[in-house]
Amino acid sequence: MADDKPKKQKKKNPKKRCPECGRAMVQQFIGLKHCKCGVTWKKDEGYFERTSDMVFALEKTNMNGKIKQVPVVRHKGAPD
Ligand SMILES: [Zn+2]
Repeated sequence: MADDKPKKQKKKNPKKRCPECGRAMVQQFIGLKHCKCGVTWKKDEGYFERTSDMVFALEKTNMNGKIKQVPVVRHKGAPD
């Protein structure tokens, strides 16, 4: 039962690889990476397949008095 021990995980791995095709993912913003096959990785959300109506942007948020830029996903045509 305890047989599926995790294989050695590289902790220092700046190149995230796509779980679908294994290619290195390209960073668009900090916390947002894309793969050519259509998979996107977003910090806090993980992997998902992007669709043509998704728009990626950086948004400034105020965190404890510090302005931080975080990636956001918007949908074209969606009302605010
Ligand atoms: Zn891929």
